[in-house]
Amino acid sequence: MAILVAGGAGYIGSHMVKDLVENGQEVVVADNLSTGHRDAINPKAKFYEGDIRDRKFLDKIFDNEDIEAVVHFAAFSIVPESMSKPLKYFDNNTGGMITLLEAMRDHNIKYIVFSSTAATYGVPEHMPIKETDPQNPINPYGLSKLMMEKMMRWADKAYGIKFVALRYFNVAGAAPDGTIGEDHGPETHLVPIILQVAQGKRDELSIFGDDYNTPDGTNVRDYVHVMDLADAHILAIKYLEAGNESNAFNLGSSTGFSNKQMLEAARKVTGEPIPAKIAPRRPGDPDSLVAASDKARKILGWNPKYDDVHDIIATAWKWHSTHPKGYEDRD
Ligand code: UDP
Repeated sequence: MAILVAGGAGYIGSHMVKDLVENGQEVVVADNLSTGHRDAINPKAKFYEGDIRDRKFLDKIFDNEDIEAVVHFAAFSIVPESMSKPLKYFDNNTGGMITLLEAMRDHNIKYIVFSSTAATYGVPEHMPIKETDPQNPINPYGLSKLMMEKMMRWADKAYGIKFVALRYFNVAGAAPDGTIGEDHGPETHLVPIILQVAQGKRDELSIFGDDYNTPDGTNVRDYVHVMDLADAHILAIKYLEAGNESNAFNLGSSTGFSNKQMLEAARKVTGEPIPAKIAPRRPGDPDSLVAASDKARKILGWNPKYDDVHDIIATAWKWHSTHPKGYEDRD
């Protein structure tokens, strides 16, 4: 039986597909290539190009393929963009989930592993954040994902579709063999932007604010390696296949790094000076976001291999330095 990876051409989805394929799993990818890259899809996976909001497209896949579980990454994920284009997020993310769950119900597909986010917690009351903490998102992106979590809860009660929601903190890094990595246009995330400065593709890093309530005044985030994240999804599929109840897990390293610390780490890894300046705050950024991820370790048996941000940055650097134009440079 196959796993359907919706959004398997994107940054995290493509690493998931690689991980599954390398574990001997049959994989089907659905992606509309709106932000993903055809060349990011592992050649051993079967690819269907289309949109998960298109019911006929989903029916074709579920009719043709023997799908056992869906791993759902097909969503927009840029917080600042969601502030200016909220309906785009509710349409693609929340709307896409309606069609996907309806199709799963009608084709009797019982398991879904879902990319949720720390952004569902909004401004946390304490740190580290636990799965049981209140979820009050402060941006449309976080709300679109929280609505998707809630929809899955009701779909479980009504139709018995079991889910695992994985709430990611800050995902970074690339496959250690350097074959796939992060390639967003435009890029908004801290690690790839720092590395673009190291490559000379940008003049300097703008650090968004140094007057936050954190030790050095810059935001603190919890970085998790993309392959560790992929491993957690494989464990989540196994958890569902074993007959367990629906559940939600944080995925982070439980250690916070400030934006200034990330810059220093990248200077060390790359050996480049990486000029930086302090810029105004970016709207929607909470002071700190650090996960309590002991639940995933205990219940899923998750054991992340990358616990040092230098190693995470080093894998990203391998990808960026060998593919300065991203997938355009890939042979
Ligand atoms: N950030 C920054 N300069 C940039 C991009 C990001 O200072 O050019 C900061 C951002 O304000 C936040 C942290 O880096 O404090 C992580 O942001 P990112 O967009 O990578 O992830 P998010 O936390 O929004 O999911």
